[in-house]
Amino acid sequence: MGRSLRWFPACMILAARLLAGDDPQTLLRERMVSEQIQGRGIRNPAVLKVMRATPRHLFVPPGMRDLAYEDHPLPIGHGATISQPFIVGLMTELLMPAKNQRVLEIGTGSGYQAAILAQLVAEVYTIEIVPELAQSAARTLRDLGYTNVTVDQGDGYKGWPEKAPFDGILLTAAPLDIPATLIQQLSNGGRLVAPVGALWNQELVLLEKGADGRIQRRSVGGVSFVPMRPGAK
Ligand code: SAH
Repeated sequence: MGRSLRWFPACMILAARLLAGDDPQTLLRERMVSEQIQGRGIRNPAVLKVMRATPRHLFVPPGMRDLAYEDHPLPIGHGATISQPFIVGLMTELLMPAKNQRVLEIGTGSGYQAAILAQLVAEVYTIEIVPELAQSAARTLRDLGYTNVTVDQGDGYKGWPEKAPFDGILLTAAPLDIPATLIQQLSNGGRLVAPVGALWNQELVLLEKGADGRIQRRSVGGVSFVPMRPGAK
């Protein structure tokens, strides 16, 4: 093999790395999506694209950035966790996000799930019960330029009546059962995705409200989420 031909593959790899920004986080993210998300059956190209583009390491505490693209949830303080990347991909795909939609998230946490949704729908409203988390997530989202996300500190059981109805509702903390108030705030034709059940024994539920308002729900599998705290009465 001639000298120039032998160097060709190495040059191609270098060029690909440079095109990818030659940023170690970009490469880790690429691997996270191909192995953990695409590799486990998530197919929606828009979901895969935004998960490739979103800097997850900037949503975790500075001491944990090295672990941001690993295959598990991470603690973010105040008893909260940023969900495992695969679960974020799965829940986002189940919601079937579209560019004209308005979506409500319960449990802002780090703001990462809200940032993923912000790139797939028109408007994201997200509620967090812990004031410090609501503030830090709002700051992270603002600093990273996600302008279509509104964070509110409050009780997710109440939903956001002033902004309802929503095309999609995503719960990232687990209630014992899906609050009726949230089902009411879902528009006809809308989808709600939630972990439901007692601690360590929850099922991921997809609830669909038909065009005629009829409710259908099915379980998608077992999950383990932070419980949804009862709000102030
Ligand atoms: N979606 C988050 C993960 C959140 S973990 C992310 O991408 O990082 C679950 C969050 O739900 C925690 O931050 C917890 O404080 C919050 N939470 C628990 N009970 C709640 C309630 N009743 N209303 C709103 N948020 C709640």
